[in-house]
Amino acid sequence: MKICENGTAKCSVHVPTEPTPAELHAARELAKYLKRISSARFSIVRGIPDAGPAVVVGEIGRTPLAGTRQMANESILRTVDRERLFLVGADPRGTLIGVYAFLRDELGCVFPQLRPSDEYIPRRLTIEVSEEEHYHEPFLPERYFLGVGARDAVDWAAKTGMSYGPPPFENDRELDWQGEKPLMTEDQAQMWVRESVTLRGEPGISIGGHASEMIMPPSKYFDAHPEYYAYNPTQTSNAIRTVKDGRDTFGICWTHPEVTRIFVEYFIDFFARYPHMTKFTLFPNDGQPPCFCDECRKIEEPWKGTMTNESLQYTKNYLLFTAKIARAVAEKFPHVRMEVGCYSSHTELPEDLDEDLPENLDVIFCIFERKWDRALDDPPSDEELRRTLPEALVSSYENDARKYTSYHELFARWRRLVKGRFRYYDYLTSTLASCGMLFPVSRAACRTIRYLRAQGFCGYGSQWVNSPLIWASYGFSLYVTGRSMWDGDASWEDLAREYCRGFFEDAAEPMFGYFQTLEDSAHHVRFGMGIPEILQVFDRQTCESCRQLLREALLAKVPAKVKRRIRDQQTLLEFGHLFWQTRQVEMRVENALREDRLDDTFALLAEHLKIDDRIQKLFDRPPLRWGKEWRGTVFRHIMGALSDRRGVLHVVKQMKDAVNAKHRFLWYDASERF
Ligand SMILES: [Zn+2]
Repeated sequence: MKICENGTAKCSVHVPTEPTPAELHAARELAKYLKRISSARFSIVRGIPDAGPAVVVGEIGRTPLAGTRQMANESILRTVDRERLFLVGADPRGTLIGVYAFLRDELGCVFPQLRPSDEYIPRRLTIEVSEEEHYHEPFLPERYFLGVGARDAVDWAAKTGMSYGPPPFENDRELDWQGEKPLMTEDQAQMWVRESVTLRGEPGISIGGHASEMIMPPSKYFDAHPEYYAYNPTQTSNAIRTVKDGRDTFGICWTHPEVTRIFVEYFIDFFARYPHMTKFTLFPNDGQPPCFCDECRKIEEPWKGTMTNESLQYTKNYLLFTAKIARAVAEKFPHVRMEVGCYSSHTELPEDLDEDLPENLDVIFCIFERKWDRALDDPPSDEELRRTLPEALVSSYENDARKYTSYHELFARWRRLVKGRFRYYDYLTSTLASCGMLFPVSRAACRTIRYLRAQGFCGYGSQWVNSPLIWASYGFSLYVTGRSMWDGDASWEDLAREYCRGFFEDAAEPMFGYFQTLEDSAHHVRFGMGIPEILQVFDRQTCESCRQLLREALLAKVPAKVKRRIRDQQTLLEFGHLFWQTRQVEMRVENALREDRLDDTFALLAEHLKIDDRIQKLFDRPPLRWGKEWRGTVFRHIMGALSDRRGVLHVVKQMKDAVNAKHRFLWYDASERF
């Protein structure tokens, strides 16, 4: 069926007689893109004709197709009936997603990144569409990404097929997700509802974070009631915590009844004030300590984790506390869900826990300490682990082998108790502390998404920060995984090629090869988040292949903006490779010292410093400059740290230790801190 010919529309875009704001928005988006493709002007008409030619956009229940089909939430249907092309959704969100899916799957648009100038819109004056019926259900029911706000990102989330985008307001807060600051202003809340729910059909608003200080502000309560905060006499005050009489403002006493009352009151007020908020995710403060008060210890002694990391675990008190809040909230707001952030020291449940938890209590897993080179269900063999783990600088077999295999059991323990839904929060953008170093984990992430669905998870998403560096480095992963949550039939290769076609145009083939080479390299080394481990991906051979592919890509006939994108990848690749080179020098230092060649280490140290100099100069380039500005992160990584076992500080420390050992501590005091 032809909907336009030689740049002239052959029909209008119809919406129901009394369209919802979401239907109108979806129809306008369709008309806008059809014009960008064909130059044809499609007018938007209220009322659906009995016969075509026509394009109809709306929720299925509000069109003449109602009753013909049961549609799952957010699913989409394209069908032609009496020369009317129906682009319908099960609900408001499905309607909007359906329009973008049509533009992509039928007309060849690609929405690789969030700025409109980053979109790939093919040009053609005549548009003929297939009359074959197409019905699609989302692979995962809840698809999202979380982070600070950005207007374009709200649209991009819908274009990628996600259920939720981030807030639509530009967030001017510093990159700091905790503190006493309110989550949003009243104006922002209204704008969020209007932009995300009313216009773009998001199924409600999910909010939350490391919110304890906001809910029970230390400035208000700590002086009069230190007993509301964690008893933890080993702590000392610093930039984020005040410690007094053994109480630590950064931790909460989860068993104190007044604390429960304060939190319950907060949430009752919150959900009354914001009726569109449908879920609140409660995380403890990021890195908060256990409460060692007698009441808390009666219920749970903080214990050493066995599955995820070495730190103390004290999940039970926290879970029981959140359950109390969820029960109180359910009495007044039965549609609202509370979600426990299963994170850091609140990850592992004790085996013997047996508690009847409320129906409205969900869990989100944020497993940041895991290894990233593989999907959750694809551990390396034991032989491979023994061979490759020692190369991961800050790992050991004992610490890390279980990180590949323990999650099945971890999820099962939670599933045994929790009646609500499970979501997974991924770290596709690594951490801010890795300064934007490439993190090629998208192929493993696509496999993880399939595994999680098979485990009964209803949602997956990633954290995200809106900055040019994040998009340059992680845009590929965000797109591929976002699409993978929507489309379970598409392979990683399909989606990676789609991204490359949209973002690199005629350079797509070498760029696909480039991303594939990085993903292959990542598959063979063991790494967690953070520069000291990720750098292993950028070995000489991988980088030589990648450089060659990027050179090929630059030879393709592509616009200047695409060339810039390719050059960004050259910069990012160099960043990884320079760090890999420093590590090679360090290994030569280690060898020299093992062979008692102290004299040779000075020239090696100089070699290290020359590479360090190149790294810091590389960070003068625009996408990376931020690494120098934000808390001086890159300087810290260049110098390294003893805990990382890499960098100049590590090299000098080893040289110093060697002198000490050889000359029996004449020159350096053995106990002297480095
Ligand atoms: Zn306590």
